[in-house]
Amino acid sequence: MNDLNNYLRMHYHIILTKECNLNCKYCGGGSDSQPKEIQYSISNLKSFLSKDSAPVIEFYGGEPLLRIETMKRIMDAIPGRFVIQTNGLFLDRIEPQYLEKFNAILVSIDGKKNVTDEWRGIGVYERIIENIGIIRQKGFHGYLVARMTVAQGTDIYENVRHLLDTGFFDHVHWQLSFEMFWEGAEDRIEDWICSYNKGISSLVEWWLSEMRKGRYSGIVPFTGIMNSLLSGKDSKLRCGSGIDFFTIMPDGRVSACPVSVDFDFSVVGSIFNDSPFSLCNKVRVGEPCISCDIFHICGGRCLFVNKAQDMLRENGYSLICTTVGHLVGELHNALPRVVKLIEKGTVRRSDFDYPEFNNGCEIIP
Ligand code: SF4
Ligand code: SF4
Repeated sequence: MNDLNNYLRMHYHIILTKECNLNCKYCGGGSDSQPKEIQYSISNLKSFLSKDSAPVIEFYGGEPLLRIETMKRIMDAIPGRFVIQTNGLFLDRIEPQYLEKFNAILVSIDGKKNVTDEWRGIGVYERIIENIGIIRQKGFHGYLVARMTVAQGTDIYENVRHLLDTGFFDHVHWQLSFEMFWEGAEDRIEDWICSYNKGISSLVEWWLSEMRKGRYSGIVPFTGIMNSLLSGKDSKLRCGSGIDFFTIMPDGRVSACPVSVDFDFSVVGSIFNDSPFSLCNKVRVGEPCISCDIFHICGGRCLFVNKAQDMLRENGYSLICTTVGHLVGELHNALPRVVKLIEKGTVRRSDFDYPEFNNGCEIIP
């Protein structure tokens, strides 16, 4: 077995189906390319993953819980640690013996009821909240992570605060919606980026004020970046795509990133012809990230966007980077105060060790 196996924790998104039971405005149902359903056998998958002694398997879609029986067969057949990214509508269908095998469940929810329902569909927010209650009652003790897609116009401060205030989620993460940066997006977004950045500043101040009261709030981007600032260690691309995070497509090919499966740059091998550790580092972020002043802390943010820059609107890349620079700058300013709070014992250094292993959050929104 390759030496890499000794120190790399490898993650595998498994696309159980490309079908989805929602039609979110910023997504439109995901990838339409064929095949949409798994073509390989579970023994093919098992044979591929058997070359990794500690795989983290993350079910992904489309909506993975549309193929709950396949998911259960994989969980029965393959030893590993399990994570799922779901829209939450069918969470109540997972039986307790499978729920307890999940280290983390990531639920897509965009914030308050009106925001979630506007983008994801009427009634979605309530179904999610109901189902979260059900899985907790059934004995799910792992991490529950709210995954927001932040579309233009979203008030980041209000909506992150709301999700934390529900008390249901251990962590809240968000990604900026791709769609507002693509070529052809109509509205100017500079004003919204400005208000988003202001919201981030307010959220950092609130996060610090909570810490001063001895309360740690699991805001994933803040935690991940602050952890790096505290340790002084440089970061790789934080989502891990192409490094230690891969996606097994329904036809058995392996993509570096779960979102860019239809792009040639992203396909790095297959479960039939390759072993897991031979896939690492075949594709990496390039310029402008490598020459960027904060590359060591940002890590390049997104491989897909880096490789598909020609699809972005004019200034699209620099607009995204404005948000990253602002976020990193605010956390850098907060660093001395965080260090003092750790020294005083108000919060623990270990509060910033999120997570034990990357469970599918990209850290940089
Ligand atoms: S801030 Fe932008 S240019 Fe700099 S590393 Fe991050 S994504 Fe790349
Ligand atoms: S951040 Fe970009 S490269 Fe990473 S998983 Fe998301 S879309 Fe893929």
